[in-house]
Amino acid sequence: MPSISLSNQTYNYTIERQKRKTLQLKLISTNRLQIKAPKSMPLKEITNFIHQKEAWIKQKNALLQHADTTVELFNSTVTDGATLLFRGKKLTLTITISMKKPAIHIIADTLLINLYGNHPMPIDTFLKQWYIKQAALILEERTKFWCKELEVTVNRIMIKDQKTRWGSCSSLGNINYNWRIVMAPDATINYLVIHELAHRIFLDHSKNFWYLVETHCPDYIAQRLWLKQNGHILTRIL
Ligand SMILES: [Zn+2]
Repeated sequence: MPSISLSNQTYNYTIERQKRKTLQLKLISTNRLQIKAPKSMPLKEITNFIHQKEAWIKQKNALLQHADTTVELFNSTVTDGATLLFRGKKLTLTITISMKKPAIHIIADTLLINLYGNHPMPIDTFLKQWYIKQAALILEERTKFWCKELEVTVNRIMIKDQKTRWGSCSSLGNINYNWRIVMAPDATINYLVIHELAHRIFLDHSKNFWYLVETHCPDYIAQRLWLKQNGHILTRIL
């Protein structure tokens, strides 16, 4: 497939020759263009046209890329069929109401919620409680694990409900985690835990601090980037 480079980004494209008078340009998926062109139009004219449309292509492509790595489908309101994230996986929410005990289960790609029939708890409240409980389990276990690896100890761990910070570590060794981190992939969760525990040795973000983080999390830059790019999605719901 031929390709064209527009400000450091390579786009593959296909040209369909048709009986038509004008060019039609479509971005059909990330980094991929589809062109419909008049039968006799020279290639040079077509590529010139693509270059002219660079700003438009870039803007559309950014939107598509965003949808790929993040969860465009991630509804801010929690309703049946909504897409939720848990440990980096997209799960489809399925709500049932019955006389059985309220419960949440993950079955394959589905997050199954059963609400109690007579007095159903608001779904947001129930789901948030579940996330916070999962966060406590996962983050306590991960902290224990990484404490051994970094040869540090912690005082107490708190799971916080906040929108702006992912975690913190005080000089006394009190660690706070934002429960929303359990929506992120495991690698990102591990990075956060390693980051906070590295503060048990270095309280700042000095070179030595980042060196220690890198020792235990070689791809920490990618994990930081993941949080930077997707963090706003994790704070958008509940
Ligand atoms: Zn820090």
